[in-house]
Amino acid sequence: MTTNAQLYARRQAAVPRGVASATPVFAAKAENAEIWDVEGRRYVDFAGGIAVLNTGHRHPKVMAAVEEQNRRFTHTAFQVMAYESYVTLAERINKLAPCKGPNKTILFSTGAEAVENAVKIARAFTGRSAVVSFSGAFHGRTLLTLGLTGKVVPYKTGFGPFPGEIYHVPFPMACHGVSAEDAFGALDRLFKADVEPRRVAAIIIEPVQGEGGFYIAPTDFLRRLRALCDEHGIMLIADEIQSGFARTGKMFAIEHSGVQPDMIVMAKSLAGGFPLSGIVGRQEVMDAPAPGGLGGTYGGNPVGCAAALAVLDVIEEEKLLERSTRLGQRVVERLKSIAKRNDIPPIGDIRNLGGMIAFELVKTRGSDEPDAVMTGKLTAKALDNGLVLLSCGVYANTIRILVPLTAADKIVDEGLDIIERSLVQIGATA
Ligand code: PMP
Repeated sequence: MTTNAQLYARRQAAVPRGVASATPVFAAKAENAEIWDVEGRRYVDFAGGIAVLNTGHRHPKVMAAVEEQNRRFTHTAFQVMAYESYVTLAERINKLAPCKGPNKTILFSTGAEAVENAVKIARAFTGRSAVVSFSGAFHGRTLLTLGLTGKVVPYKTGFGPFPGEIYHVPFPMACHGVSAEDAFGALDRLFKADVEPRRVAAIIIEPVQGEGGFYIAPTDFLRRLRALCDEHGIMLIADEIQSGFARTGKMFAIEHSGVQPDMIVMAKSLAGGFPLSGIVGRQEVMDAPAPGGLGGTYGGNPVGCAAALAVLDVIEEEKLLERSTRLGQRVVERLKSIAKRNDIPPIGDIRNLGGMIAFELVKTRGSDEPDAVMTGKLTAKALDNGLVLLSCGVYANTIRILVPLTAADKIVDEGLDIIERSLVQIGATA
């Protein structure tokens, strides 16, 4: 048998350390919310491949659609010879998206690629160049998206200079002392001190920050942003790459606020494990770049489109929006009861928007002082106990739960039991 340790040694020798892995184990197979490693050990999966698997590993409908597509053709390049599934998927996303339609959709392969292209489209439409994003934001690892990303370590370290005309303002984060009023005030000062609003092409925001720590943008803040964008002719782009496709109990998280963005960027759970991303937006905005201005060899790959059409069916048929809401309630209730224990490291803020759930570890009970060290210990201990668990956050003290929405309650409870047990174990050795 090949062991995790053997593979890890080979990996260290063959793969650059820059692509770090959260776990030192190697996957052999996976099903819905469970993964088995090469040594046959089973794990409950609370990471969902970083928000990719809202419909679980290898959903039978997604697999069937992919197998059927594989039998017909796997690639033509949409720019060479188009295919119906791309158009059908665009039509379905156009209907689902909460933009002020009529909408159009273009497809790419990765999240970063979609974000880059959304900026290109905003620039083409407005004839302006500046872009505003938020501190703590994560929009990707390519140089433009890295410029938009609002967290230095580890993403930006050593990679500058970043593209110009990008401005950051604080993201509202009430539990760490940044109110919506503070964030809005910063935007106001930015427009007075650094860039006049009529040079701004777009403001890009995650309605719920992903890598930044699962902080939820207040509804009122999003509404004020919309009004500000309307006042100055700025495109409002919602980055729903992590929060989209039923994760928060709505197809897109921004629907909770009733705000209509000009464009939405999506990826991850769109295609249930296959590399597909896209942008949906108002037709007049989306049609701003001239023919040939947008594209990419693999953009809207037919296997990805087949998977995504099946994902949309599964979300509907299995009522995953409702499931996400119930899952959020169930998990948060349990986390609140775990937090009452006094034999565990102190839990701070617990928050969720549907099934996008997080809690923070803090140094002392009742404080908001982040405990990143304990958070690292928790994810490592959870793995020892058979749970894949991810942290995130600008303070690296947030645990995020991204269990497939298709997971049975029994598996979810098993994962929560492991969190509780792991907290007790690291509490005892603290
Ligand atoms: N935006 C958000 C909100 C994300 O969470 C991510 C990935 N974590 C990206 C953009 C970048 O997506 P990708 O890794 O597919 O380029």
